[in-house]
Amino acid sequence: MEYSHIIVRYGELTLKSGNRNEFLKKLTKNIRYNLQGLRGFHVQTKRDRMYIHLDSNEHVEQIIEKLKKVPGIHNFSPVLRASLDVEEAKKVIDNLLETKKDTSYTFKIQTKRPNKNFAHNTNELNNIFGSHVLVNYKNLKVDVKNPDFVINVEVRSEGIFIFTDFIKGIGGFPVNTSSKALLLLSGGIDSPVAAHTLQVKGVEVEMIHFQSPPFTSEEALQKIFDLTKKLSEVVGKIKLHVVNFTKLQTEIVKRIPSNYTMTSTRRFMLRIAEDVAKKEGCLAIATGESLGQVASQTLESMNCINNVTNMPVLRPLLTMDKVDIIKIAKEIDTLEISNLPFEDCCTIFTPKAPKTKPRLEKISAYEARDDYSELMEETLASVKTYLFDKNGRVITQDMKEEKIIKEDFSDLL
Ligand code: ATP
Ligand code: MG
Repeated sequence: MEYSHIIVRYGELTLKSGNRNEFLKKLTKNIRYNLQGLRGFHVQTKRDRMYIHLDSNEHVEQIIEKLKKVPGIHNFSPVLRASLDVEEAKKVIDNLLETKKDTSYTFKIQTKRPNKNFAHNTNELNNIFGSHVLVNYKNLKVDVKNPDFVINVEVRSEGIFIFTDFIKGIGGFPVNTSSKALLLLSGGIDSPVAAHTLQVKGVEVEMIHFQSPPFTSEEALQKIFDLTKKLSEVVGKIKLHVVNFTKLQTEIVKRIPSNYTMTSTRRFMLRIAEDVAKKEGCLAIATGESLGQVASQTLESMNCINNVTNMPVLRPLLTMDKVDIIKIAKEIDTLEISNLPFEDCCTIFTPKAPKTKPRLEKISAYEARDDYSELMEETLASVKTYLFDKNGRVITQDMKEEKIIKEDFSDLL
């Protein structure tokens, strides 16, 4: 059995009729980009669906696996095509049933007929194809309510498409069809999942990471590079800003009472993130925080942290359970990297008893005791920006030079 096409359906996309053309252009580009290196197909985009024409089935399994990950695809079906001829369609159904000869199954025929010029209506077609199957396959029985499989028949102007599977896509919108957000990326499990969740909704995500060498290791930074690389696979390019946080963080630990250092650290992270976000034209900041997971993630804590910025702070994982976050981390292949033991700056400087319900007036008063402006400036000047290109390679800060650093990033560490 050789599939002739894969039909790709957009789902949510079709609702956004105003931007549809723009979205479809991006989706087509993203699909082509994600299928790079595979052969035997070409893509044809139509208003309500996309056809991937398969010249051969050599790479069809890989194509299917890749399509599952492309944001903006609601579902898709590998299909067999017959010309607009009932007898030919029956032969194609025979091809489809080749693998279903030996066991007893129930089935149903479901016909759609967008091509109203076709000689038979849907009821007639259901009967024609249903009888064909029942007569020729004694192991198959009809069950219209709860069949083991459905033979879908779509009569279109291009031909009769026949298929059994609707394969679920990731949904959402094509990458980078929304504006930009700056995401605080730690080496943990949550923030890469938060990045992914936003990317699937079309948000262009830049990353910012705070490191405190020598307290944080080279391996911890390597983890951040590896996570960014992983997250760039689907979207193409990602910018990563790395902040040297050592001096500021050390001063926070010295100056702020220990049960409030965590709150203050987060507030300074957010202040710096805001500055970078504005320079980069990001409209929001995002984090991997999830309500109640740890002491720092209570509403009281978020209230204290948020208070330093007027920018929206997006927390896509806010109400998610850890098991579900881990499930996504597995699916997007970041879990293994996140589980590596190298700790980031927050973990290393975590006080013994961080306040779970910090108070805004207290933290504001503690921070007002000192002038942090020079430290802030120095920290902002330390920001190094890397651009991860579509192959996960890194282009340095000096983007005009477009100097590509060798793959293992060792020069950057
Ligand atoms: P994660 O698994 O994302 O690290 P977490 O449950 O461990 O989350 P925290 O360590 O409290 O939670 O961090 C909460 C959020 O703060 C992270 O999701 C991330 O967005 C941000 N964050 C923490 N540490 C850093 C860091 N060193 N650099 C950038 N962002 C950070
Ligand atoms: Mg963490």
